[in-house]
Amino acid sequence: MNIVPTPNTEPLARNEQTMRYRPMGKTGLMVSALSMGCMRLTEDQDHNDKLISTALDMGINYFETARGYCGGSCQDYTAPGIKTRDKGIIVSGKAGADVTSYSFFKEIERQLDILGLTHFKFFQVGWFAWPSIPYLLRRGGVLQAINKAKDEGMIQYVGFTSHDTPENCIRIMETGLFDSVILPYNMLYRGYERSITRAGELGIGVVAMCPVGGGALAYDSHELKEALNMDMPTAAMALRFVLSNPDVSTACSGMTKVEFINQNAQTVKEFDPEKSDIRELMCEGVDRMRLAVGEKICTNCGYCMPCPQGVNIPHHMELYRNWKCFGLNADPDSWPGNWVVNAMAFLGPEQKATNCNQCGDCEKKCPNELPIRDSLAKLVQNHSNG
Ligand code: SF4
Ligand code: SF4
Repeated sequence: MNIVPTPNTEPLARNEQTMRYRPMGKTGLMVSALSMGCMRLTEDQDHNDKLISTALDMGINYFETARGYCGGSCQDYTAPGIKTRDKGIIVSGKAGADVTSYSFFKEIERQLDILGLTHFKFFQVGWFAWPSIPYLLRRGGVLQAINKAKDEGMIQYVGFTSHDTPENCIRIMETGLFDSVILPYNMLYRGYERSITRAGELGIGVVAMCPVGGGALAYDSHELKEALNMDMPTAAMALRFVLSNPDVSTACSGMTKVEFINQNAQTVKEFDPEKSDIRELMCEGVDRMRLAVGEKICTNCGYCMPCPQGVNIPHHMELYRNWKCFGLNADPDSWPGNWVVNAMAFLGPEQKATNCNQCGDCEKKCPNELPIRDSLAKLVQNHSNG
């Protein structure tokens, strides 16, 4: 008798010519080291289809989606691209936990329907934090829906995404409820490194989001090249940094151009983290850059807020840190232009540093005693278009 495996047991697709694969925790699945975040797809469906088809051709087998991304259209934009090629790939769905079992279950059904899938290999409990554990575990809570969906073959593995503290993320992992975790991780932001190490110890797959710093690490930095002694585009260094961490399963990037997918796949294919002491060298280089600007840097805690003039202080201090620490402002004439100016342009007029009247209230509240007024003034002075 022929035994036909159910879709839930099929191995993931591979293209050894163009991609490397890494274990997804202890699930037994081998996930592509580069994965695709679908949160930056757009109304241009032809372009979306091209991106997804290129990603599939390059051997990417993990696609991150959520119904709420792209103004609620992320999964509608993803569906046509995977329509005839959904075998052997992970298309991950996501929903928040502060709802009833009934709503969560209906949400899984709805997302499967939009994506045209029979089941999710991974479904994420999204934006999760330790204080929400009771919502998950209570009678009629989300765990009940997860178990029902598993029993009915609608989901195979469950992960969570979080911006909670690294300690709380570890507590969530230690409940044993999750097979994977999605956390922000890149050269600029290493706050979750402890959580990632713990995930490795527990056999939990790690999807590193924002490996290119939300686009910041796509910009040229002579300082980074020198400090890391690597003569290559910043994005290539950034991917190498993330993948040099053996506990990361995949680096998930919201790639918006076909050439980014091709370049990133090439970077991943060429880079063998096991063949060198690259991790130590890169960590030392990044640490040296931080120390060069002094021990005290903005940790994004937000204690300086609110500003009576409406200035978005943490955002500006993050730009200041990345400019001063990592040289991420680039040559204004080079592609893709000056990152700091571009990032400042995203802020509404009421949030801009130009509104600062130097009152000094923020500095009294900053636990790192940072010279916020001076930093904002320098930022504005050197990036006058912002
Ligand atoms: S010094 Fe500037 S940024 Fe700080 S609180 Fe006063 S107005 Fe806001
Ligand atoms: S209080 Fe200080 S460390 Fe915290 S966000 Fe504001 S500037 Fe950064």
